[in-house]
Amino acid sequence: MNVHPLYHRRRSVGVRVGSVTIGGDHPIVVQSMTNTDTADAAGTARQIQQLAAAGSELVRITVNTEEAAEQVPRIRDLLDAVGCRVPLIGDFHYNGHLLLTKYPSCAEALGKYRINPGNVGFGRKKDAQFASMIEVAIARNKPVRIGVNWGSLDQALVVKMMDDNARSANPLSADEITRAALIESALISAAKAEEIGLPRDKIVLSCKVSGVQDLIAVYAELAARCDYALHLGLTEAGMGSKGIVASTAGMGILLQQGIGDTIRVSLTPEPGGERAQEAVVAQEILQTMGLRSFTPLVTACPGCGRTTSTVFQELAQEIQAYVRTQMPIWREQYPGVEDMSLAVMGCVVNGPGESKHANIGISLPGTGEAPSAPVFIDGEKVTTLRGEHIAREFRAILDDYVKRKYAPAAAQATV
Ligand code: SF4
Repeated sequence: MNVHPLYHRRRSVGVRVGSVTIGGDHPIVVQSMTNTDTADAAGTARQIQQLAAAGSELVRITVNTEEAAEQVPRIRDLLDAVGCRVPLIGDFHYNGHLLLTKYPSCAEALGKYRINPGNVGFGRKKDAQFASMIEVAIARNKPVRIGVNWGSLDQALVVKMMDDNARSANPLSADEITRAALIESALISAAKAEEIGLPRDKIVLSCKVSGVQDLIAVYAELAARCDYALHLGLTEAGMGSKGIVASTAGMGILLQQGIGDTIRVSLTPEPGGERAQEAVVAQEILQTMGLRSFTPLVTACPGCGRTTSTVFQELAQEIQAYVRTQMPIWREQYPGVEDMSLAVMGCVVNGPGESKHANIGISLPGTGEAPSAPVFIDGEKVTTLRGEHIAREFRAILDDYVKRKYAPAAAQATV
């Protein structure tokens, strides 16, 4: 797909993580994180598979205990056995230096390490423990994300910056100092990692906060001050529509400024809800902004007083769900199908017009209209559907279109 011409990406140093590259001139990468107990290898591998199937190109797992570290190679093996090659990122806090050195097969099975400079230790031990993790990364040729977080900011650094600020002629507000401390923590840690010997193309930075305005301010400055690849995300975005809207508002503005090489949408799942929703939302942010294509999206009108039935809502939902379930097969067989656009519209007012803009569109009959649904393919009206089986017939038209338009040239003759 062509990236939207109004978008210009910030230049960053590309960082290879297994088969995926973050930054450089590579597409923005979708990542996610499991919420299983990593010590439960089978359960964690199952969720990683679900996240990868939903579109996550990197998956982070917490490595918080010896039991978890012990199971990481097994998780990798379970995934490899089913052909799931998604690189794994180990999330380390407090004891990462111990786990990465005591469990070398864990260190090797991971594609990248996430280190939080606020949680690597205290006092004199801090630098040594940070260095120990960086040395493992260097020895194993692994990249590192230096991931600073608002909720676990290096307190020694904050106190020092607050003290310096108090002596300043023009003191900043506490919020300004906290934002500055996030950025300093990331940049100072990255500089230390480079001094120890970790190359620049092995470093990704993030500075996560939970407020949209803070996120935008912090990343705008971070992006201006370095060319490290940046991992973008709102930490603790929240649940449901709030989490989706907050993540989209914050990341959308930054992405449009060219900032962000990999993204995560940190949604709190509804009880019993799908963890993989965060990968779907991340894909949809990138796709609706014209930055990447993953799955054909359905344009649907909101409905109004001209649609007194739920027929078009049901059809839009059914078609979007159908496309998602077909994508694992279509992606393999029909290259480019992810760019296809669909429209399901509620009535004659905008229905034919919007349908003509899509590859395939259908305009359902609104209240008082004749009970017929014209179908448009590549701007031309091709047929009119009537009766109770409109959804099934529209799906058949869609299948036929995908086969005809996206089959590789060699297969076209047999379609
Ligand atoms: S297309 Fe028709 S049904 Fe849909 S919102 Fe517009 S006027 Fe209402």
